[in-house]
Amino acid sequence: MKIEKAERPDPKPESKAETKAAAEALRKPGSRKGREHPIRGIPVSPGIAIGPVFDTTEEPTEAPRRSVPADRVEAEKQRLAEATALSRKQLGKLKTRLSVLPEEAQEELAPLLDAYVMMLGNSRLLRGARKRIESELLAAETAVGDEAEAIAALILAARDDDKPGLQRRAGEVREIARRLTRNLMATPFRSLKGMPEGAILVAEELTPADAALLDPTRIAGVATDEGGADGHTAIMLRALGIPAILGASGLSESAERGDLAVLDGAAGTIVLRPGDKALEKGRAAVAAFAKERAKLAKLRRLPAVTTDGEPVELQANLEIPAELPLIALSGAIGIGLLRTEFLFMNREDLPDEEAQLAAYTQVVEAMGGDPVTIRVLDWGGEKDMQALSEGVAPTHSGPNPALGLRGLRLLLKRPELLEAQFAAILRVAERGPVRILLPMVTNPSEVKAARDIYERVARRLRRKGTHLPEKLPDLGVMIETPGAALAADAIALEADFFAIGTNDLAMYTLAVDRAEAEVSHLYDPLHPAVLRLMQFATEAALRLRMPVSVCGEMAGNPKLVPLLLGLGIRCLSMNASAIPRVKQMVRALDIGDCARFARRVMEQSDPARIHELVQGFAPGADRG
Ligand code: PEP
Ligand code: MG
Repeated sequence: MKIEKAERPDPKPESKAETKAAAEALRKPGSRKGREHPIRGIPVSPGIAIGPVFDTTEEPTEAPRRSVPADRVEAEKQRLAEATALSRKQLGKLKTRLSVLPEEAQEELAPLLDAYVMMLGNSRLLRGARKRIESELLAAETAVGDEAEAIAALILAARDDDKPGLQRRAGEVREIARRLTRNLMATPFRSLKGMPEGAILVAEELTPADAALLDPTRIAGVATDEGGADGHTAIMLRALGIPAILGASGLSESAERGDLAVLDGAAGTIVLRPGDKALEKGRAAVAAFAKERAKLAKLRRLPAVTTDGEPVELQANLEIPAELPLIALSGAIGIGLLRTEFLFMNREDLPDEEAQLAAYTQVVEAMGGDPVTIRVLDWGGEKDMQALSEGVAPTHSGPNPALGLRGLRLLLKRPELLEAQFAAILRVAERGPVRILLPMVTNPSEVKAARDIYERVARRLRRKGTHLPEKLPDLGVMIETPGAALAADAIALEADFFAIGTNDLAMYTLAVDRAEAEVSHLYDPLHPAVLRLMQFATEAALRLRMPVSVCGEMAGNPKLVPLLLGLGIRCLSMNASAIPRVKQMVRALDIGDCARFARRVMEQSDPARIHELVQGFAPGADRG
């Protein structure tokens, strides 16, 4: 399930309630409840959580009755169409997940889900709802509710001796109407009300915007059925330091609100209703984790330099300003990737130049003279934002959102967004060193077009008397598509620096969605295709003596540091909590060893062999 949001359709809303209700109904009393139940997921954020499960799907959805003016009719019909498409998608996903249920339950549920999907086709329910929007000027959710009740009443009034059958059919109509209504309404975190402190949030799915609203001081952990290791939700949870696992298939069907659970974010496990032994193990892991943290904290003031004296810049990625204290404690020298999406999340309108300036000022001042690389808005794909969905960009940008109007493409189409962002960043430049980063670039001409706008904004500000540094802040490019990587030499001529975004680079190279649990076994930044692209782009930058960093999740994995340094990378940007471990690794390495190791890795064509080499690397052992 996921957290519900208000007013407009959510791109990936809740889908658990029905499966859960149906699975519950089919479950033999006492068959699973009460028994210890371990479930494996994808480890995304380290740490141990022990606490009661808080499952957010149990809140009923109530839509207030609403009518709309005549000029809203088309918009309401469009909302209904979007909620219908979304509901179909959710049901399709539910069907793929049936395999985790007992066979008997699968046999019952599969036809039910098919019936629901049929009702989302050219059904009487939808035809009737559309008609009510047009003729009675009703809001989509009111029209759906009224039509469903009218159909249910007709079914129940039929002359038929099979009363339970009639009731079941009427129930199915109401059920699908409830799903549509939920998708039409959705309220941010309405269903988190009443969550006890120290609880583990269990959800079918969590969007990045939902994750951004979690309070790490109140929540012990997060576990979901959906999601992948390098999706934005995972990144957000890591940033907040909340122990978390995603992609734990079957979890929400098995968990009950109030169940005790032990979650291990590094191992990727959650044990529901743990027995004494599992509980004891969990408590020991909490103590060990705290001890390890204290040990790593001692590295904060030590330099990130290899044994042969090569300095490596270790910077932090920042998702939300709440991370600033964590960054201060991490020993990061600057911010290598400030994702500005947080400014656009969970709000109805767009942040203007002043609001952006205030946010950037807070970050730049907190960094006390260390450099801050601000990436302009990377909307699109999984990072849906309400404020942008309304009017600026469509909720679902085409059949293939990851390949659609996202990142710089959207900004060049809506230059007023880019202008406001450039202006705010330029104005903050006098408070500390900043750089600007362009996301989702595939073509040198896009960089040129962005630079034209950048220089125009700078001229306008200067005309208005704003003091700007003589040399404008550097304008860099994310290398995160195979196209950009393979054209890196051409793009380098237009850019001041590169930041390699390995999360998207792996996704686009391997055609594997980084946030999709079903294909997470294929998502592999160590695939030779990804590494070769990284090598090509890095060499293009180094030939021009242009700075190049890695700011994808790879950068925060200490095991991958020897390879990245061996490829020539000297700047790594990662979630703040990963910095101490990465620093520990850097301080144990010799650059010559790293270069030899990287050559060996790059000779391999089998990803499994690359993993073996990476896992087997021990600092110092490669010398000779
Ligand atoms: C990346 O794609 O590697 C990256 C750093 O950007 P994001 O994760 O925000 O898409
Ligand atoms: Mg990216």
